[in-house]
Amino acid sequence: MSHIFPRNSRARLPVIDHGDGVYLVDTTGKRYLDGSGGAAVSCLGHSDAAVTAAIRAQLDRVAFAHTGFFTSDPAERLADALIAHAPEGLDRVYLVSGGSEAVEAALKLARQYALETGQPARHRVIARRQSYHGNTLGALATGGNMWRREPFAPLMIETTHIAPCYAYRGQDPGESAAAYGHRVANELEAEILRLGPETVLAFVAEPVVGATLGAVPAVEGYFHRIRDICDTYGVLLILDEVMCGMGRTGTLFACTQDGIAPDILTIAKGLGAGYQPVGAMLCTAAIHDAIAEGSGFFQHGHTYMGHPAAAAAALAVLGRLTDDGLVARARTMGARLRTALEDAFGQHPHIGDIRGRGLFLGLELVADRETKQPFDPARKLHARLKAAAFEAGLICYPMGGTIDGRQGDHVLLAPPFILEDTHIDEIVTKLGTALAQSL
Ligand code: PMP
Repeated sequence: MSHIFPRNSRARLPVIDHGDGVYLVDTTGKRYLDGSGGAAVSCLGHSDAAVTAAIRAQLDRVAFAHTGFFTSDPAERLADALIAHAPEGLDRVYLVSGGSEAVEAALKLARQYALETGQPARHRVIARRQSYHGNTLGALATGGNMWRREPFAPLMIETTHIAPCYAYRGQDPGESAAAYGHRVANELEAEILRLGPETVLAFVAEPVVGATLGAVPAVEGYFHRIRDICDTYGVLLILDEVMCGMGRTGTLFACTQDGIAPDILTIAKGLGAGYQPVGAMLCTAAIHDAIAEGSGFFQHGHTYMGHPAAAAAALAVLGRLTDDGLVARARTMGARLRTALEDAFGQHPHIGDIRGRGLFLGLELVADRETKQPFDPARKLHARLKAAAFEAGLICYPMGGTIDGRQGDHVLLAPPFILEDTHIDEIVTKLGTALAQSL
């Protein structure tokens, strides 16, 4: 009997043995092409020598020194390198151990900033209905997935949700993308006014929606309008790039492609590329300075924040992404994977939409292409597809998201940036097999 408390008590899982580039290999020798990087984590694949060497070298010097007493060279250099590449205005880095921790830190920083700038009434958070921001209580409250939230609702902070920018289902026939983006962004203004602008702390959104919708970017102009609304009402804009950041969409930070910068930004997953658990929150100098010149102390912290071995890993990952050209590779290979998916499934009777940016791509499954009618949730198509793909030796990330109050199914693809054309062929072939078996 295993004493591990598993994610799913009924699942019987293979045992992982080792990684080999874009493949994971279990203890029976079966090879799985990691078509989703786990959950958009493994951007460098599973055997990156530069990253493992950097971790080893750091462990040989010192593994851990508490941030209450010391800073470290890898943490300082990582922060400098992130800020050198970050969107305009982001100026300080707070290192944590994962995505949920980064989102919690962002929410608490926003609240403390409001207090230190004499705005104690600001406490309400607005987010979007189809979103995932993590599983700790603040992050869970922020996310819009009702199934995840419901059991824990009595423990949660006050959050309300507006529509995401989801053109495939939201844009009206005859409506331009620009008009749609403006209309759906205006829901934020309406919600701020409904709640009372002086009570609203922050708006939280993923620039490209990952787990809950399957790689859905906003239409052009949406985030410009969101930025304007936040500025008008003094609401902080928190962008969650835990999944879509670190080059996944073809630029190091996803929001660059939307032409705006947030007040606070969260990253994780691709930051450590799976080699170490690490996340970060970036914020503007204005937020940092208000606290530095006020109480002088951000009332937050975790034992493992700024962990030297995790920071060394992230610094090496960042070097691979930027100096070794892997972000650019995510862009070119992403375009090729997208073309291959469009060629194979563009006319498929049950693929309604193929979307995304860079190597962050999604396919939405529908019962009827014309009406966009989702499949009956009782079929649990996403779960069957995941199992069929896994059996065929492909890891992909299918999910059932809530679409217009109903369940809908999509597949998320987020392979390592090092993938080759042969891997693209293998993804498309195995996905085709899995679709045929599960539909
Ligand atoms: N935000 C987003 C956008 C995510 O996709 C996730 C993880 N799927 C999280 C936050 C939470 O990150 P973690 O699982 O590392 O806590």
